[in-house]
Order: sequence, then structure tokens, then C-alpha cells
Amino acid sequence: MSANIKIEKTQNPKQKPDEENLGFGRYFTDHMFVMDYTEGKGWHDARIIPYANLSMDPACMVFHYGQAVFEGMKAYKTKDGRVLLFRPRKNMERINVSNDRLCIPTIDVDFSVEAIKTLVDVDKDWIPTAEGTSLYIRPFIIATDPFLGVRPSLTYKFIVILSPVGAYYPEGINPVKIYIENEYVRAVKGGVGFTKTGGNYAASLKSQMKAKELGYTQVLWLDGIERKYIEEVGTMNVFFKIDGEIITPSLEGSILAGITRDSCIELLKSWGMKVTERRISIQELYDAHANGKLEEAFGTGTAAVISPIGEFNWEGKVITVNDGKIGEVSQRLYDTITGIQNGVLEDFLGWTEEV
Ligand SMILES: *Cc1c(COP(=O)(O)O)cnc(C)c1O
Repeated sequence: MSANIKIEKTQNPKQKPDEENLGFGRYFTDHMFVMDYTEGKGWHDARIIPYANLSMDPACMVFHYGQAVFEGMKAYKTKDGRVLLFRPRKNMERINVSNDRLCIPTIDVDFSVEAIKTLVDVDKDWIPTAEGTSLYIRPFIIATDPFLGVRPSLTYKFIVILSPVGAYYPEGINPVKIYIENEYVRAVKGGVGFTKTGGNYAASLKSQMKAKELGYTQVLWLDGIERKYIEEVGTMNVFFKIDGEIITPSLEGSILAGITRDSCIELLKSWGMKVTERRISIQELYDAHANGKLEEAFGTGTAAVISPIGEFNWEGKVITVNDGKIGEVSQRLYDTITGIQNGVLEDFLGWTEEV
């Protein structure tokens, strides 16, 4: 595959950032992958080039109508020097689900995974090894026709950039405080809530700013119609442990089908735990807490992996989960998933791929 990818290495390698102080998404590696799409010709000119600004016509459709999709995954360096990706095919299958909804041409899953592996290999010296760090991979596709009419673009760019990262939340694995949004909504069935498209995030900022002002890290979205059922957190799916059972909202078209979510469900089942995907209302959550049955709450996503939730605020009613401490199941999921990702634990479910 990589035979079809032209590689132009940089003449000016950048200075690498301090591994202990990476934050999330602030630094970028020396190279990027780019491939173009032209109607009638398909995807072409796959290349790895020095990381640089793009030169684009200001009329490019992505700037005006937001026809764009993205993905997020990570590469890890093991103690014995291997480089691992975690279920990368799932990401590239999902970008095609997003592509289909946004009328963007699909990309070949095998080729794009191969392209990502080649890019990661070129920049493998950028993969940090300090505890809790990894190389974040951001593939994205943008509509590039210079045209102001509204229709699907006929040209696109598929780009992959890499960023060495630490913890997504400053809290790390410590529990986060979540504000339950009851004014704005994120998505409705029939919309684009199940896709990874920038517009979903643009629409969420107002609420995120409001939550931040009140001292909360993230927003928990309720369904867009009744504002009654729990959907997901800003960049994470959510799980609850109620009376010994693990419950997560079912995928009904408005929630992002997280790969970490799917991995947690598989792991919990392999441990013989009861996991249920169903609708759960915010009232049910508060009732469970009132009855002493809400044992744990946590978010799942590539960026934070597992993020325990220590506090919820719904219309001013504040509840604390597990005394604001990380729960047993959250900790076990975190240890197992990060252990598999870093090559410390046996990959008994066949989730990692070596670069
Ligand atoms: C990416 C994302 C997630 C998490 O998905 P993962 O595949 O686990 O990283 C959850 N919710 C939203 C809205 C997302 O964009």
C-alpha cells in the first residue's frame, strides 16, 4: 500500500515538546498525510509532506456550509518499542458513516489505515512515552470546491495530522463535574448527531461556556425533543452503574457510536457483568441516587479513555456520585483499556494493530 504514497520528508524538523507538559492538541508533528478527491477521478495523489499551512480559496465550501467530517484515535509506544494503534479500522469505518450522511465520498478503509500507519511510522519519534501520554491522530475531510451555491462539493481533501498529547481533562483520571443542559440541545434523530462533524461541536460551545462559568467541566446532553432522556457528554458516551447493573444510553441516531463505548461493553460482558443499552431518563438517574443505588458514573472516549463523573447538576439540584471518588468498575476499565493500548496487558480481544 505505502508504495502508492509519496513521501517527502521535512528539511527542518521541529523541536519536540516537553513530555510532562503536553496538554491536549497543542503540538503537531513534522509531517501530515494529504489525499485529494476529484469527481470522476476518485481519491488520488496520496502523499506525506512536511506539516504546513494549507493554501485554500476563500470560497471553499467547507468555510461556508461546514461540509466536513473528522475522526480521533491514538498511537502508543510500548516498553519494548512497538507502536500500536487501537481498533483503527473502526474509526475509518465510522468516518464513512459520517461521509455518507454529509454526502462526502467514502474512502477505502484498508488504504486509509495503511496511510495512517505510514504517517505514524514517519513521525514515530514523536510518540511520547511518559505515563498517560500518546500520539493523537486526527484524520479529517473537507469540501474544497470554490463555490457559494449549496450542494455537495465535487472536490475534497482528506488530511491526517498528529499531535503528542497528555490527559484531555486537567483532572486526569480524577472525577469530573458535569452540568446537565436543559436549555440547549445537541442533536435530534434524523440530524447529524451520530456523525463526527464540526457543526455538532460549534453548536455545543454556548452550553459548554455556560457550564464552565458555573464551575463544570463538561455538559451532559438530554434528548432534543423531551429533554428527558440522557444522551451523552460533550466528547464522551456515558455509563452508569445502578444497583450492580451497568447502563448506557442505546444508539438511536442522535448519539455518537463511540469505539471506547463499544470496547467497554465488550469488556464488561467478558467479565460476566450485566450491561444494558437502553433509554434512561435523567429522573431515573436522580431517583437511583436518592435510593442509594447510583454506584458509579463515567464517560468514555478516545481522548480521556475513561473519565469518572463525581458530580451532576440538573436544574440546580446537585448530586455526588461515589463520594466524588473513582469507582471500582471505572478504574478496572481504565486500567484494562490503557493496559491493552500500551501493550502492558495481553490483547485478548485482538484490538491492537502494530504499525
Ligand atoms: C468522538 C466522540 C465520542 C467518543 O467516541 P470514541 O470513538 O470512543 O472516541 C463520543 N461523543 C462524541 C460526540 C464524539 O464526537
